[in-house]
Amino acid sequence: MEKFSYLQPGKPAVFKDQFVAKVNECVVPYSEGEKGDVGLIGLPFSKTSISLSQASDAPRTIRSCLSGFSTFSGERDLDYEDVKIIDFGDVLTHPTDMEESITRLHLSVKEMIDKNVCERYIMLGGDHGVSYPSIRAFRESFGEIGVIQWDAHHDVRNLEDGGRTNGTPFRSLIEGGYLKGEHLVQIGIRDFANAKKYHEYTKEKGLSVYTMADVDMTGIVPIIKKELDRLSKLVDIIYLSVDMDVVDQAFAPGCPAIGPGGITSRELLSSISAAASHEKVKAMDIVEIDPSKDFRDITSRLAAAAMLRFMYVQ
Ligand code: CA
Repeated sequence: MEKFSYLQPGKPAVFKDQFVAKVNECVVPYSEGEKGDVGLIGLPFSKTSISLSQASDAPRTIRSCLSGFSTFSGERDLDYEDVKIIDFGDVLTHPTDMEESITRLHLSVKEMIDKNVCERYIMLGGDHGVSYPSIRAFRESFGEIGVIQWDAHHDVRNLEDGGRTNGTPFRSLIEGGYLKGEHLVQIGIRDFANAKKYHEYTKEKGLSVYTMADVDMTGIVPIIKKELDRLSKLVDIIYLSVDMDVVDQAFAPGCPAIGPGGITSRELLSSISAAASHEKVKAMDIVEIDPSKDFRDITSRLAAAAMLRFMYVQ
């Protein structure tokens, strides 16, 4: 009889409870013919960040945080262990040619969509610059697009001063004709974090902007519901763009642009749940986490929890 061995060649030794399914166990790499519920892609690009950022490391860290969650919701008395996540991997970016990298991100998101094997998609950045090629790809594949952006900042900076950075994605989308101003909703915009000129730009282009004072007064979930109702009459699909710096620095210390006075982690999660339950919501990106600045992966763990709220809808 063969002697039993406790060695795990090529694998970490991880405790397994026979009754517990972990979210990472539901992730399978994409292969031809594979079908699933949620497509996952990493956009590891942050070289054009205004401040030094290693947000390109976040896709790996966020994926590893999925093992910290089970697939069971006690609140709903539902187990989501059958929701299959197809992982398309990370996009190989160019080491020096930034515009070429942005093109590769765009082509890769499009390639994932064109496989047509999932109902919904999650993009893991990267800095916020990745939303420009990503939203563009969804616009080209699905038609008129609406975007709900969780962010402390407008991200509509001019392109003359620094070219395409993590401060310009929504200006690039609006001026490229991919996104109409009135189809863009910004939530969590913070005081003393933006310029008057960009505040005026958002008014000129007809964006719906909700500041932190609006969130305090109205509550974030009613804002989301109202805007989903409005957007869904105007667009074919809705894309959620989640810049983690919308969350207060106490809950998201791993963002390059941390600050006080942001939303709580609970507000982030409840608002994503509210948005994800809408049938027109097809995609979500999560950006601006630099794991090298984080503490105990607090911010990446919150991103993983946000993924769960998006994937597991009632
Ligand atoms: Ca941003």
